[in-house]
Amino acid sequence: MKVVYDKGLYLPEIDLWMDAKRPKSRSVISHAHSDHIQSHAEIIATPATGKLFEHRVGRARATLLDYNQPYDLDNFRLTFYSAGHCLGSAQTLIEFNGERLLYTGDFKLRCGLSCEPPEVVECDTLITECTFGHPMFQFPEDEQVHKLLYEEIDRAFRLGLQPMVLAYSLGKSQEALKVLLRGGYSVALHNSIMQIVDIYKEMSIEFEGDYRPLDLSDMDGMVVMMPPGAMRGYAVRSIQNPYTIYLSGWGMDPRARYRYRTNSVLPLSDHAGFDDLNRYVIESGAKKVYTLYGDHFFASHLRQLGVDAEHLHEYSEKSSPVGKRPKAKRKARSETLSLLDLIESSTS
Ligand SMILES: [Zn+2]
Repeated sequence: MKVVYDKGLYLPEIDLWMDAKRPKSRSVISHAHSDHIQSHAEIIATPATGKLFEHRVGRARATLLDYNQPYDLDNFRLTFYSAGHCLGSAQTLIEFNGERLLYTGDFKLRCGLSCEPPEVVECDTLITECTFGHPMFQFPEDEQVHKLLYEEIDRAFRLGLQPMVLAYSLGKSQEALKVLLRGGYSVALHNSIMQIVDIYKEMSIEFEGDYRPLDLSDMDGMVVMMPPGAMRGYAVRSIQNPYTIYLSGWGMDPRARYRYRTNSVLPLSDHAGFDDLNRYVIESGAKKVYTLYGDHFFASHLRQLGVDAEHLHEYSEKSSPVGKRPKAKRKARSETLSLLDLIESSTS
């Protein structure tokens, strides 16, 4: 099956967009993180993603499909499988002319506390994210990271500092809230996180323990949780003696805390690490692998192992070798090149 990437994933033979970054008449939404959603006329998503999409973008015509429920659409069959990335996150299996193509979207294989357990899906063609597709990103067991988080929070309290856990409002925050409540902490939540916790609860995810909306005048003994962007707010900057702990897979890089200007970065990730990306490629049985969202390294690593793999680029005049041709030649070629040709020439 032909695969192109042009501000979203496109399968031209069946005219299907997935995670399109520009408004389309119809697009699959793998999950509701902001870099995967757009105001499309119609979306195909899981019920939880549909709810989160409505919260973030607004109402759209929606075909909502549960996991493992095949759906025949035009001339192909579409089935969602859990991606384990955040609530409702889905891998998309497309079956067309006897071929199985799987798009993982963002995924992880470690089982989290706050969303559906992931699974590996067998396929012929695999399109996988490779955000952490480098050997430096071999994530420790989640329990180990939880322990480090508890230790850092306890140390902050001992030193009279205000522990502040920074995590994206969808997915990471709900996972971190579960971890903190399990550790017996009282947690004060930024409004944007609380709203999504409420949606999780509507979708039957329980949070047991002491948590409440953040009140900057009453944080004594509480762990504060907020998205990283909220730290720039004037009121938040007035918090005395903050001790900031950022939860991100990038924490495997020892320089991360300087980049994020936080006291610490702990590698609690909602993505697959290098070992799980490799495991997925092998266990899926894919004969062709396309990589997406990371850089070239993972695809070249797979090629060295004998896997037919290539990295999908965003097409742009600037980045494409086609774009670097002399003007006259480029104009002549651009009239005859299809979008697919352009993408393929930029990925070779
Ligand atoms: Zn995501």
